[in-house]
Amino acid sequence: MSAATDRGPVIRITGLHKSFGSTEVLKGIDLEVERGEVLCIIGASGSGKSTLLRCVNLLETPTSGSIVVSGHEMTDPDVDIDAARRGIGMVFQQFNLFANLNVLGNLTIAQRRALGRSQEEAERIARENLARVGLADRESANPAQLSGGQQQRVAIARSLSMQPAVMLFDEPTSALDPELVGDVLDVMRGLAAEGMTMLVVTHEIQFAREIADRVLFVDQGVITEIGPPEDVIGNPKEPRTREFLSRVL
Ligand code: ADP
Ligand code: MG
Repeated sequence: MSAATDRGPVIRITGLHKSFGSTEVLKGIDLEVERGEVLCIIGASGSGKSTLLRCVNLLETPTSGSIVVSGHEMTDPDVDIDAARRGIGMVFQQFNLFANLNVLGNLTIAQRRALGRSQEEAERIARENLARVGLADRESANPAQLSGGQQQRVAIARSLSMQPAVMLFDEPTSALDPELVGDVLDVMRGLAAEGMTMLVVTHEIQFAREIADRVLFVDQGVITEIGPPEDVIGNPKEPRTREFLSRVL
């Protein structure tokens, strides 16, 4: 990364609108995320949280507005989108592991294909990241042999192996049995403590309160409240935030 892109926010979103057909889902989002910041995004189902995250790495094309990630203007028609996306890791509710590859293969394939790393280097980086998520001993397992929580940790390690500048998490624990949630949250706590820049959509409100530098509440495609967790979760100003929290806490 060049020196120029090391300054200023890692993510800068300005005037972001997104419609599907005639339905406007994001209605003007402005947001800056600083390097090392953990931003948790909360809000009711259907409020546009996933769409917001998916616009950041252009899984959805914004209808209007600008998104700059690590100096890449994502919405510039001339952007090298593959290069820009390489700096953005994304972890979904569903783990999307390659069922036909073992754990190590899941962690090396994109490193080899997208980054051109040698097998040896890709394996070295994969093993470092498996250790980071507590699965150093499972590199030869097939995804089907792992619990959901282990599969999600493999998915996180796979993203980390690309050495992204930003990690996006979209409800990473929502598909997990309750007893498996803690290990995944622990991995995310570790990343936050290491200074990873993270955008986390979550329904785990206590977790958000604990790890977030700022919490963002989205309602019907608009940021209605953003600030430190002790304000947005602990002492929300907006009636809509209070109403949401009273339902989920
Ligand atoms: P959240 O993640 O907060 O639950 P989403 O961003 O998934 O919300 O969805 C916001 C709204 O956009 C919902 O009404 C959803 O039905 C709609 N939506 C999301 N993706 C699409 C799509 N690909 N096509 C049409 N509508 C969509
Ligand atoms: Mg969603």
